[in-house]
Amino acid sequence: MPELPEVETVARTLAPHVQGCRIEDSRLLRPGSLHELSLPLSRLHGRSIAGVGRRGKLLLLHLEPATGQPEEAACLVVHLRMTGRLMTWPTTTEPGRHTRCLWELRTPEGTCRRLFFDDVRAFGVLLVANAAILQRWDFWRELGPEPLGLAVEDFAALLAGRGGAIKAALLDQKVLAGIGNIYADESLFRAGLDPRRKAGSLSAAEAARLLHALQDVLQLSIAQCGSSIRDYRDANGDVGAFQNSFAVYGRAGQTCQQCGQTLEKIRVAGRGTVICPHCQG
Ligand SMILES: [Zn+2]
Repeated sequence: MPELPEVETVARTLAPHVQGCRIEDSRLLRPGSLHELSLPLSRLHGRSIAGVGRRGKLLLLHLEPATGQPEEAACLVVHLRMTGRLMTWPTTTEPGRHTRCLWELRTPEGTCRRLFFDDVRAFGVLLVANAAILQRWDFWRELGPEPLGLAVEDFAALLAGRGGAIKAALLDQKVLAGIGNIYADESLFRAGLDPRRKAGSLSAAEAARLLHALQDVLQLSIAQCGSSIRDYRDANGDVGAFQNSFAVYGRAGQTCQQCGQTLEKIRVAGRGTVICPHCQG
């Protein structure tokens, strides 16, 4: 599943293709892809896309404000989940087998293009929302803070008193937004911490080390356009390169680049987890 760096990369690569475009029409090919709380897709029509952003693993297409109409749609939220993809194509491009939704866009220059939401596994979700709808959506309302820009003392406060494994805390979207299996394992290795340690057992120095490792690994991945391990592509159809820099993820049985011992696969928080038993304590 795309995590924070991959969704950030999609947002950055999609923006030049859609920013300033007016949404003229939409075609929902799989009604189940629209979230039950969503406003109808038609509420996007006639509205222009102000920019593309991200919250956790959610991609956000912000709309230009509809003056004085707080109940109007403010954004289109896209949860890519496993295999969701957003790309623009010429208007001659027809929907494919896995196209769940498409939008007709008109650029500020007056040309037209189509925005496609393709999703092979069909776990992705679309939600046309205003502020009130976002507040009714439990997943959104309960999202934890963004890890980039988080202060060490705030991170330490999130972990304090937690009895579960530190890895479970990193994966919990209510604790931190945007982290999944890859960046949890990579940051715990870089911080030299055993993912089975209780979150609340970390010293202030260890919490600081973990947050800095997490922020470093997220920034490094964003700089390399994310990690492509299955079918993740950015909005230009390009793969990321950070998978070539993994220290532990997917490397069980290989040697630790730091100490030369064999990396082991264990299970933590119900997820396959790769650790170096020598470097992580
Ligand atoms: Zn090692």
